Amino acid sequence: MYLKVKWIAQAEPLTEGAQSFLNGLVKIRLFEDPEGIIEKIKGFSHIILVAYSKRSRSTVAYVAKVISKEGVEIKVRTNNIKKPTNILHIQPYHTADDCIYSASTPNDATKFSSTPKTVMLKSMLKEAEHFHGDLCAGVAIGVRMLYRAVSELGCYPRDRELKVIVSAKGCIADGIQAPMGATNKRFRAVEPIDDTATFTYKGCSVRVKLAQSTKFNNAEEVIEANEEEVISGVEVLKA
Ligand SMILES: [Zn+2]
Repeated sequence: MYLKVKWIAQAEPLTEGAQSFLNGLVKIRLFEDPEGIIEKIKGFSHIILVAYSKRSRSTVAYVAKVISKEGVEIKVRTNNIKKPTNILHIQPYHTADDCIYSASTPNDATKFSSTPKTVMLKSMLKEAEHFHGDLCAGVAIGVRMLYRAVSELGCYPRDRELKVIVSAKGCIADGIQAPMGATNKRFRAVEPIDDTATFTYKGCSVRVKLAQSTKFNNAEEVIEANEEEVISGVEVLKA
């Protein structure tokens, strides 16, 4: 049995390399607009794109941020479209129906240990950016603290047994909470703020302390900085 499909648009990446630190700019040109796509996505900041992947010989779905719309052209930001791609379907991204913040996958643990550090940091940073609503140096610092802690504790960010008490500013706290997918059972923010976060996993605790000397201008600088520029020390509290 065959399913007959029709391309409705062509997506073409506009940025490459350093320009697309997290998400590159992609131009989507609709061949026509029979389903009133432009009208349907009006007012939505993000859309879901269904494309055909030649490599995996299957359809794939991506979420992309809408940057601008003009006629039958939509400019979006996404990290998933690296070469000209045929689009099968476009629909708005609904915050309630399409987002499950605390979702986890069975592959989280293997993914963490088998993924290179920079790739993992960037992926965690994306989660932090979405949660925080902005990509700032603070969320990137939180991501670096979390990464260090899970490396020390030998778990992974979304591990249900990983808990944290954070004494750091809001941006940093969000950067820690988001990649954990943590609700209040696993995450707590406390005063006074002394730029530390204490992570506990299976009876073992580590306190990660932020370096005070380095000033960062943006998230990219934080992700690329050396470990000692971001974290001044890790104290093991219980073994
Ligand atoms: Zn921020």
